[in-house]
Amino acid sequence: MKHVRKSAEPPELTQYRQRFSAQFQRWIKLKSSRKTYNAIRNALATDQQGLCAYCEMSLHPQDRAVEHFIPCKQSTLENNLDLNWQNMLATCQGGLQQVTVPGEETLRNSRPPDDFPCCGAAKADFVPDGRLLNPLELPTRLLFRFSSLDGAITPDPAACEQSGITIDQAQFTIEKLNLNVQRLKDQRLVVMDEAIAMLDQLDDGETEPTKLEAELAADYFGDSSGDWPRFFSALKFALGEGAERHLSSIS
Ligand SMILES: [Zn+2]
Repeated sequence: MKHVRKSAEPPELTQYRQRFSAQFQRWIKLKSSRKTYNAIRNALATDQQGLCAYCEMSLHPQDRAVEHFIPCKQSTLENNLDLNWQNMLATCQGGLQQVTVPGEETLRNSRPPDDFPCCGAAKADFVPDGRLLNPLELPTRLLFRFSSLDGAITPDPAACEQSGITIDQAQFTIEKLNLNVQRLKDQRLVVMDEAIAMLDQLDDGETEPTKLEAELAADYFGDSSGDWPRFFSALKFALGEGAERHLSSIS
């Protein structure tokens, strides 16, 4: 889970809010306005540079959902959370729906019957109470570590402390969103292993390791104009100080 920077709400959402009466100011109603719904989904995906706000899996037309950080059920007359742009995130479907994309079988987050849902599907109607971290409020500093043995995500105590976030909050977030389900660990491990294998290939025994990491980070992350590679944070962790160096040079 990484920091999400939101742009202004799409004009279609503003227009929808202005055009329709109170009974239509509900998410379930808005969804039937395909133009508005698609504009929201596309704007969220662009802001998040193509990644699920929770697990960082690549979003796909067949595997994406609009997540309300505070559930729509909490909406009141005075505080409409359904149509609140700041309350919306793009997420994967958490493995709840089996998605098969020809040629991309290993990239998708389809849940085997013996694995649990993750992300919004795991969070369900939970009402955030301060323990669940909001991607909009995260620092750009990496708050998590990733195991090179099994791809598991754990809080980074030092980074949490420097960011004013408790380890309990980071741990709670991992557990509430099920970010350590087997399929996510497995896929993170694949991505990290690939990066480390490429670092090995680049290593000529002379070049400083951080320089090699930065070169490879430039290949992975580019100039930040397009979509990020899946599992951005795990990659950033695997590419260490060089990734930090590259990312700060382009931000
Ligand atoms: Zn996800």
